[in-house]
Amino acid sequence: TIVSSKYTQEKYKTPTGSQLNCKGWLQEAALRMLLNNLDPEVAERPEDLIVYGGRGKAARNIESLDMIIKGLKILEDDETLLVQSGKPVGIVPTHSNAPRVLISNSQLVPNWANWEHFDKLEKAGLMMYGQMTAGSWIYIGSQGIVQGTFETYAELAKQHFGGSLKGTLNVTAGLGGMGGAQPLAITMNEGVCLVAEVEEWRIKKRLETRYLDLMVNDLDDAIDEALKAKTENKAVSIGVPVNAVQLLERLRERNILPDTLTDQTSAHDPLTGYYPHILSAEEANVLRESNPAEYIRLAYDSMFKHVELMLAFQKMGAVTFDYGNNLRARAKEKGLKNAFDFPGFVPAFIRPLFCEGKGPFRWAALSGDPEDIRKTDEMILKLFPENESLKRWITLAQERIAFQGLPARICWLGQGEREKAGLAINEMVSKGELKAPIVIGRDHLDTGSVASPNRETEGMKDGSDAVADWPVLNALMNTAGGASWVSLHHGGGVGMGYSIHAGMVIVADGTVAAEERLKRVLRNDPGLGVIRHADAGYEIAQQTARKHGLGLNERI
Ligand code: NAD
Repeated sequence: TIVSSKYTQEKYKTPTGSQLNCKGWLQEAALRMLLNNLDPEVAERPEDLIVYGGRGKAARNIESLDMIIKGLKILEDDETLLVQSGKPVGIVPTHSNAPRVLISNSQLVPNWANWEHFDKLEKAGLMMYGQMTAGSWIYIGSQGIVQGTFETYAELAKQHFGGSLKGTLNVTAGLGGMGGAQPLAITMNEGVCLVAEVEEWRIKKRLETRYLDLMVNDLDDAIDEALKAKTENKAVSIGVPVNAVQLLERLRERNILPDTLTDQTSAHDPLTGYYPHILSAEEANVLRESNPAEYIRLAYDSMFKHVELMLAFQKMGAVTFDYGNNLRARAKEKGLKNAFDFPGFVPAFIRPLFCEGKGPFRWAALSGDPEDIRKTDEMILKLFPENESLKRWITLAQERIAFQGLPARICWLGQGEREKAGLAINEMVSKGELKAPIVIGRDHLDTGSVASPNRETEGMKDGSDAVADWPVLNALMNTAGGASWVSLHHGGGVGMGYSIHAGMVIVADGTVAAEERLKRVLRNDPGLGVIRHADAGYEIAQQTARKHGLGLNERI
């Protein structure tokens, strides 16, 4: 048993190998993935139980973490652990095909759904912010977002630059858990990346994991280096330790027009996620504690200016988009009327993929052995030989992606493909080709499990952006289908009041029962996304629904 008042790597080390610490592989998987989320190689600030995305946590506090671990260890195969905003609150009798864990994170009644109210509850120890995969125990480090970012820039390149970012200058900010994927995704698309990040340790972390190529301390030197790489058609990424606003101001002073422009600071959370440009990181960290209201005021001023600069570059011809952090809404709240003149990345680049049920499908090797992932990579390439971009991604990922924590892989698979891949993985486990079971899950940046009007559901064809029945249905459906753990969250990605979304994870332990559950869950989960988009009037989704027999019309 763990006796501790704070997180330490030694005490909370993720178990690996084929020995169970729990009464079954489903419980064991939840235990390993929870601890993996907090592994210092994976989490941004494990000492505060913060995984990524501002203050996205895996457990409410250290006592809750200890209790979840104990709960998972005693949990029977026909019981379910209930977790309320990161705190375990009960174990109830269910049945073997029911989820072993049910999680609800950061839910507030709509009239109270704002940061102000949440902050009070969090301070009182009554809630935690689950972000997306932090509180649903399926974060796999920056790789999780690399392919999505890679797909986004690939689509952008297709739409604007003839299919490659070669010879383009791509400017952005934020090298956190998610944002850290930007430089690698841009260089994988052959472009130059210039990225501002206030906290130097974040830049160093991305250098260590090879997501970023260079750090250049002086702002003008960094800009010069980026311009040189652009002229020479070299794919290089450069991190510069300054505020995003300072980088954009300097580019404007020097009359330099980025080819693409976006941002991945944690603007969704003005108090803990965004640095005001008139303060140094140290000053900001002091003010955040001493005078939070003043901090928030300065952060809003900065975000206003930040978006104003982005709009100015957009007018001059930069392909400008919001990267899912709600920066535009913050500027608008501060009074910038045309903040939404540049689009979000989903309507601009991702929605056609959602219509085919595509999204960030991922799996992790519970054995801890990278060889297990290498074998599944090979299997995926054999399973989908016609898919050229998948081949390119897996090959690049094998070369460039350093595993963080449990070895894992991500790829964007759609309707029909996820089921096929999941069953093939289960078969590999059952034949003993892998050293231990595999967990399969996805991000909440997804087709059918999210309502987020400034991101995933921005500008829906039928105006149903804010309809949140879909994520609730998704969680209910995956519970009924037998996912291994299911979570329903509020506020991920874009902050309190702006999103409702659901997560699911399912374990392929090689059994026949798992095979049946995988068939249901991996068909239904993307299927609801296809149904949601077909219902909103998207033709690609309607065709996909027909092809896979998902619609009601095919049944009645
Ligand atoms: P994070 O909190 O781990 O990192 C944010 C980084 O931004 C920090 O390193 C911080 O120092 C830096 N920063 C803050 N203000 C800055 C400023 N003004 N100038 C320069 N740097 C600044 O967050 P993350 O996990 O990287 O997520 C970033 C944002 O992207 C979040 O809002 C998140 O919700 C959103 N997000 C995007 C996607 C996507 O697909 N694009 C997916 C999930 C989340």
